[in-house]
Amino acid sequence: EAESLDLKNRRVKLVLLGDSGVGKSCIVLRFVKGQFDPNNKVTVGASFLSQTLKLGESTIKFEIWDTAGQERYASLAPLYYRGASAAIVAYDITAPESFQKAQYWVKELQKHGSPNIVIALVGNKADLADKRALQREEAETYAESNGMFYIETSAKTADNIQELFQSIASKLPGGSS
Ligand code: GDP
Ligand code: MG
Repeated sequence: EAESLDLKNRRVKLVLLGDSGVGKSCIVLRFVKGQFDPNNKVTVGASFLSQTLKLGESTIKFEIWDTAGQERYASLAPLYYRGASAAIVAYDITAPESFQKAQYWVKELQKHGSPNIVIALVGNKADLADKRALQREEAETYAESNGMFYIETSAKTADNIQELFQSIASKLPGGSS
């Protein structure tokens, strides 16, 4: 019985990549603690949090590597995403340059990340709709043509945060889609 439990309980390394300030740490904080702290301190180095999620009969334990410094020291990034089965590449829908940076990270993961890594392209700060600078369609088209899925989230309102991690879980090998 212990063995069948093991098969259903998986640990998944997940990394967050993206420009500084797009809301990576807030996304993690919202998912793991259900909180939003507008004064959230800048992550120094890497912070590590885990959270389990139910997917049908399985329990998936996300081991989440939230990084800072990779924004400035791109050469350190491979240390973070090595062995990752999943990545969240985030940008801020109000900041076009952060979308450019997201594309850089996607290429980096495609070149040097784990084969079959599940990548979620995330347009965060969806609550700031009046300041939107990037149309959803543009990101969707880019995601589709690169084999990723796209979702817009708000760490502030919690919109689509749970869905983001559920979707990643379902796209892992052996997931439901
Ligand atoms: P990181 O550098 O990517 O980890 O970004 P942070 O998580 O530290 O967030 C940067 C800033 O954006 C902070 O001031 C947050 O309060 C703000 N922020 C993060 N997520 C959201 C969001 O969904 N909506 C809004 N309006 N602000 C957000
Ligand atoms: Mg951070």
